[in-house]
Amino acid sequence: MDSGMMSKIEKARRYAEQPDRICFEEFKVRLAGDNDSHVVTFSGGQWSCDCLFFARRGVCSHTMALERILGTMIPVAQEV
Ligand SMILES: [Zn+2]
Repeated sequence: MDSGMMSKIEKARRYAEQPDRICFEEFKVRLAGDNDSHVVTFSGGQWSCDCLFFARRGVCSHTMALERILGTMIPVAQEV
């Protein structure tokens, strides 16, 4: 392996240990819930989930689970 690639791998390792460098702008995932699976999206700073609870409250167990996983890389959904 050449030294250029070695330095890139080292930099990647350092970046991966510093998640505060990362800020999600958008994503879409399917979460397998206990009763049904739900599609959760994040775009333009806004969360969305196709479950009924999210439609009523603007936050749900699915968005909260993703907040826990993503930590500082994503803003927390606000209850409406
Ligand atoms: Zn939901």
